[in-house]
Amino acid sequence: KFNTNVGQHILKNPGVAEAIVQKADLKPSDVVLEVGPGTGNLTVRILEKARKVIAVELDPRMAAEVTKRVQGTPMQKRLDVLLGDVIKTELPPFDVCISNTPYQISSPLVFKLLSLPNPPRTSILMFQREFALRLTARPGDALYCRLSVNAQFWARITHIMKVGKNNFKPPPQVESSVVRIEPKTGSDRPGVSWEEWDGMLRVCFVRKNRLMRASWSGKEVLALVERNYRVWCAMNDVPLEEGVVDGEDEDMDIEDSGPAQEEWDGIMDVDGDGDINGGADDAADDDDAPSFFKELAAQSPAAPQKTKSKRPKTRVAALVRSKIMRVLEETELADRRAAKCDENDFLRLLAGFNAEGLHFA
Ligand code: SAM
Repeated sequence: KFNTNVGQHILKNPGVAEAIVQKADLKPSDVVLEVGPGTGNLTVRILEKARKVIAVELDPRMAAEVTKRVQGTPMQKRLDVLLGDVIKTELPPFDVCISNTPYQISSPLVFKLLSLPNPPRTSILMFQREFALRLTARPGDALYCRLSVNAQFWARITHIMKVGKNNFKPPPQVESSVVRIEPKTGSDRPGVSWEEWDGMLRVCFVRKNRLMRASWSGKEVLALVERNYRVWCAMNDVPLEEGVVDGEDEDMDIEDSGPAQEEWDGIMDVDGDGDINGGADDAADDDDAPSFFKELAAQSPAAPQKTKSKRPKTRVAALVRSKIMRVLEETELADRRAAKCDENDFLRLLAGFNAEGLHFA
């Protein structure tokens, strides 16, 4: 009996299992992380090619299955089965990751792999087709989201194979795809902090079709940036002019009534992680998100709204607000929408914010 609640769809076509392992281009010296070995269809094939497999499996029954499968064979010594949730497991070093990924953890798995201090040389991962398309989506594509920007910023992503649902037992409801993720290394690896970059993108993509000037005007966003700014000032000996600003009760209208209604079709991707349905994937991705972002996501209404924001009450809040607006104007991003911005736009934005002492981590 398979538990589809934890994504147990076993690969029954040996040809597909063979192709996945072959695409990983394994070296005999490689240590491979396998996520969710299940009954071991991929595991035994990986063990034929690599030095060692570390298999992280959530379900004790499956962990027992795969252990039994290699018992009494020369492979036994080269397989370590770790029982637990791969997202919460501290991973030992490995060279390559292979996974017929349980779809619930697609997004957190990608983020985890990309943010490792020593990311694997290559990852060959099976995902739901739509998730794979999000990983490779370009600015302006309907599926473009925070996940697309992040993944393509830190890695080269290639769609390598389509896999129909009948290759699995039991068949999932949707088609799948295998992608290759090769993290950029050395001088190719962007010289910005992962947390800063992702922190900034989270704000931009809370509502990806909103004008950036509106995305950056919410009171929670301002409060977060102000908090970080105070810390930055303290650390850099920059004096802060405290005090109350006059006219505090006046409302300010931000000139954005949101995107046209048709643009909102499918925009439930409040946290920009690539999941439009707000399903398990969303929740899992938010597990590691600061509570600030959870609040933000929870507040995003399902329909366009005119943005109203209170005039900042303190001098520091007003300063932060004017800095943000200045950066948005100077980078010419104030009237753009995250959905249409590319990596260079976001890099320019982060550089502008940082130059003003504004940080997101
Ligand atoms: N690798 C096998 C195959 O290709 O036939 C099984 C793949 S099946 C799609 C996903 C496997 O991941 C299941 O065995 C499931 O129990 C396991 N799993 C689900 N969530 C997990 C998690 N958070 N961490 C580790 N394993 C998980």
